[in-house]
Amino acid sequence: TPRLSARGLVKRFGPTTALAGVDVDLADGESLAVMGPSGSGKSTLLHCLAGILLPDSGTVALDGREVGGLSDRERSLLRRRHYGFVFQFGQLLSELPAIENVALPAMLLGTPRREATDLAGRWLGSLGLAGMEGRRPGELSGGQAQRVAVARALITGPAVVFADEPTGALDQTTGHDVMRILTETTKAAGASLVVVTHDAQVADWCDRRIEVRDGLVRHAEAAR
Ligand code: ADP
Ligand code: ADP
Repeated sequence: TPRLSARGLVKRFGPTTALAGVDVDLADGESLAVMGPSGSGKSTLLHCLAGILLPDSGTVALDGREVGGLSDRERSLLRRRHYGFVFQFGQLLSELPAIENVALPAMLLGTPRREATDLAGRWLGSLGLAGMEGRRPGELSGGQAQRVAVARALITGPAVVFADEPTGALDQTTGHDVMRILTETTKAAGASLVVVTHDAQVADWCDRRIEVRDGLVRHAEAAR
């Protein structure tokens, strides 16, 4: 069974058809880049795959179990337990120091504060952020903030990490650095990864890529 499997996804917003019938499989530990021009349906696909958005028709299954029949509450629990998220920017809580941003998802799943904080400290250290634990997001560079976001996405041991334009706010060199950390760390953690990007060089970091055009997957190819 694929880790994540989508069949026949259709999603409309009023007169706009954002997804017109998309099939995607994501293998265990695989990283997949979702490419395509602006407005082609990439974010909608990511949101449907992650159970944030319900498709009008079609199915999404995690480890062979369909997600569409779950209640909002169950889907929200499923996301918290089994998924991690990295967005373009602005995802960290600006009032909280880096270490608390990272510890929070573990605490929300019931890990005691002390234990979650220790674990968060180890994650920050392994991502090259030793000494930055007490800084608030505004006191970090863009690349450092994205590393914190990667740690935050992985601390709960997710099955799948979803990243929507994770390098969108970064210069090219920093973007490469963040993609290297994101792909390597996710793989080492045994999680699968879905990265939405319009940047072919960002996609090069992934095992495989698909191209979305007008709500359809136009072609699929191996990245490297
Ligand atoms: P991409 O991520 O490739 O830029 P999106 O998935 O965001 O594309 O959008 C696909 C299409 O669906 C676009 O035409 C967009 O305007 C439309 N769309 C996306 N989300 C909404 C929404 N919440 N309400 C209305 N239209 C939407
Ligand atoms: P536990 O191991 O404590 O039973 P799980 O982590 O398996 O909990 O699941 C947490 C919640 O997410 C439950 O509501 C469960 O029904 C749901 N869930 C977990 N995995 C899937 C899946 N692959 N498809 C649908 N729902 C799932």
